[in-house]
Amino acid sequence: MISKILIANRGEIALRVLRACKELGIATVAVHSTADADAMHVRLADESVCIGPPPSRDSYLNIHQIVAACEITGADAVHPGYGFLSENAKFAEILEAHDITFIGPTAEHIRIMGDKITAKQTAQELGIPVVPGSDGEVKPENALEVARKIGFPVLIKATAGGGGRGMKVARSEADLEEAVATARTEALAAFGNDAVYMEKYLSKPRHIEIQIVGDGAGNAVHLGERDCSLQRRHQKVWEEANSPALNVDQRMKIGQVCADAMKKLKYRGAGTVEFLYENGEFYFIEMNTRLQVEHPITEAITGIDLVHEQIRVASGGGLSVRQEDIVFSGHAIECRINAEDPRTFVPSPGTITHFHAPGGLGVRVDSGAYQGYRIPPYYDSLIGKLIVHGRTRVECMMRLRRVLDEFVIDGIKTTLPLFQDLINNQDIANGDYDIHWLEKHLAATSE
Ligand code: ADP
Repeated sequence: MISKILIANRGEIALRVLRACKELGIATVAVHSTADADAMHVRLADESVCIGPPPSRDSYLNIHQIVAACEITGADAVHPGYGFLSENAKFAEILEAHDITFIGPTAEHIRIMGDKITAKQTAQELGIPVVPGSDGEVKPENALEVARKIGFPVLIKATAGGGGRGMKVARSEADLEEAVATARTEALAAFGNDAVYMEKYLSKPRHIEIQIVGDGAGNAVHLGERDCSLQRRHQKVWEEANSPALNVDQRMKIGQVCADAMKKLKYRGAGTVEFLYENGEFYFIEMNTRLQVEHPITEAITGIDLVHEQIRVASGGGLSVRQEDIVFSGHAIECRINAEDPRTFVPSPGTITHFHAPGGLGVRVDSGAYQGYRIPPYYDSLIGKLIVHGRTRVECMMRLRRVLDEFVIDGIKTTLPLFQDLINNQDIANGDYDIHWLEKHLAATSE
């Protein structure tokens, strides 16, 4: 049994995990940098430990300090949240070596999915449909031959990729040499590894991902899909569940493919299998071996608390649900509220002078922000998530419009005005958008 969890994260996700622990009667330890001493996750935890100065590498990414904080407080498990150390296989191994439970998958599964080529090969072996592309790494001297085989346009991607870095499109043979060279340079700078591979470039796909949870012993369920096609620079901005593009049969079919794959893998914990979806076909792009920012929309339509499930599975208690018990109810939308200029997306740290979160039926606000809170300039600009649920997509959109009018965050710039724009857009109302829609819309409306 787990009796005390150290949350190796900050901000709204630390608070999210803390809430689940409290509901389960598990004691909590917050860790924080000196810049976060007055943060809400620190205030609400049973205990807290300062683990270093503001830069992440000296605090939230400092494995030694986090293990020491576990030893000092007697925490017997760590929840990594997302970002930071959540997909660090070495961290999972070090914790296990200290007899501390890592609330997440095995180090081996994190490693397999962390390398995009291995992940794709594994997905294929497990029966998951993948994007047509190269067999593993592509060297510059073979690039033309591989690209001709796949057919232009092609996408060059970094093996170690993440956050859309090291990714370049080559539309024709003339573009190829430069695209490969740029992708390799970017990959080396971002990940210290210049290996790249190649995929067919899909021109108008949607990004659709399947939430899964496994017990590590061969049992796994899927919790339907999320549509995360509204992106800027490959960063998700607005997510919805269910996808406006899928019907029940498609959902259950691709969901089952993923659940069956996770059973074969004996996957433990929560994970997301990400696909591009075009012309009725799914193409695997990657798997995230952690909780995701957009997990609350899945919770809204299933009523299942994903952090509860993660903790149950990590403590050997198995899953609380069987596939046949999972009911998908209504529609949910999440808006990521970033402390950024809504047009330029330049971060806007500073002090929040006024904060009023909306409420009412079907409304959830996950945020550690409050009036007087100073947003430090060192971290991700996500300061909160607004999740709205309705019985239908139309009801959900009507509610979201009302809620956006009610939400007040003064003193800093936020992305709230962007959502006020989107909620009044006809394409969004129709659910008619692909992964390029938002960039095109932003370009068109800034002229
Ligand atoms: P990262 O790990 O860098 O985020 P992903 O493989 O998850 O990389 O892809 C991120 C985004 O890049 C996708 O959501 C999609 O917008 C775009 N993308 C990835 N692969 C393709 C592809 N084969 N064709 C078109 N767009 C793609």
